[in-house]
Amino acid sequence: MTSTQFKGTALITGASSGIGAVYADRLAKRGYDLIIVARNAQRLDTLAERLGKETGRTITTVAADLANKAELARIEHILRKDATITVLVNNAGVGSVASVLQDNVDEMEAMIELNITALTRLTYAAAPGFVARGAGTIINISSAVGIAVEALNGVYSASKSYVLSFGHALQRDLADKGVRVQTVLPAATATDFWDVAGYAAQKAKPTTMSAEDLVDAALSGLDQGELVTIPPLHDGDQWLRWEADRRAFAPNFGNSKPAPRYAI
Ligand code: NAP
Repeated sequence: MTSTQFKGTALITGASSGIGAVYADRLAKRGYDLIIVARNAQRLDTLAERLGKETGRTITTVAADLANKAELARIEHILRKDATITVLVNNAGVGSVASVLQDNVDEMEAMIELNITALTRLTYAAAPGFVARGAGTIINISSAVGIAVEALNGVYSASKSYVLSFGHALQRDLADKGVRVQTVLPAATATDFWDVAGYAAQKAKPTTMSAEDLVDAALSGLDQGELVTIPPLHDGDQWLRWEADRRAFAPNFGNSKPAPRYAI
C-alpha cells in the first residue's frame, strides 16, 4: 500500500490492455484513484484487483463500448458529474493495416467512432468541469502515423492526425484556463493493437517499444510540460522545426487574391 498523496481521479479509456493498462498502473502509483474503461470487464476487474492491492487506491471499472453512442454517453455523464476527476486519458483506439481497396467501410466507420468521436465527446464532457475547477489534464493518444501517414491504413492514420490537430486547438482554448493538454505519439509499441490491426509480427520487431517504456517516457514528457510528446523520436528538434514551420503558415494565408502561379 502506498503513502503517496491523493491527486484526484484519473479516467482512462482502453485500460484493459496495452498502453492504457500501463497508464493505469503508473497513475495509481502516482496517487490517483482510477476509473478504468474498456469493453472487457474481466480484464478490467483483474487489473483493478491487482492495482487496488498494490497501491491502496480506489479503482472503479466501467465496461463500455465507446463506439456505441449510448454506452459512450454513460462515460460522458461520469466525466460531467464526478468532480474528483482531474485527469482524462483518451487512450482507447483500434488500427488496421488494410488498404482502401481491401477494407470494409463499416469497420472504418467504427474506427472513426472510437478513435475520433469518442475521444472528442469525452474531451467535451471533461473540459467544462476542469475549467470550472481551474485544473485538469487531458492526455490524448495519437500516433506517429498521424505524421507518417503513409505507414498504415489511411483511415487510422487520418484519425490520429485528427487527434494531433485537435490537441493543438484544445491547447489554444484551454491552456490559459488551467487545463493541461498533452498529445502523445507512440510509434510501434508491443501490444494487442497489432493483433487487432492484422499484423501481429510487428510486436517482435527490434524497432518496437514496450508499452512500459512508452508510458514512462510519455509521463516524463508530461512532467516536463510538453504539449506533444513523441517517445521514439530521438531528435526532438526535428519536431520543433516542423512545428515552427507549420505555425509559420498562418500569416501567409491572409490574401484576397489567389497566388500568381494560379493566374489564368
Ligand atoms: P491495445 O492493447 O489493443 O489496447 C486498446 C484498448 O482499447 C484496449 O483496452 C481495448 O479494450 C480498448 N478498446 C478497443 N475498442 C474499444 C471500444 N470499442 N470501446 C472501448 N474500449 C475499446 O492497444 P494499445 O497499443 O495499447 O492502444 C492504445 C492506443 O495507442 C490506441 O489509441 C492506439 O491507436 C495507440 N497507438 C498504439 C500503437 C502501437 O503500436 N501499439 C502505436 C501508436 C498509437 P477492450 O478490447 O477490452 O474494449
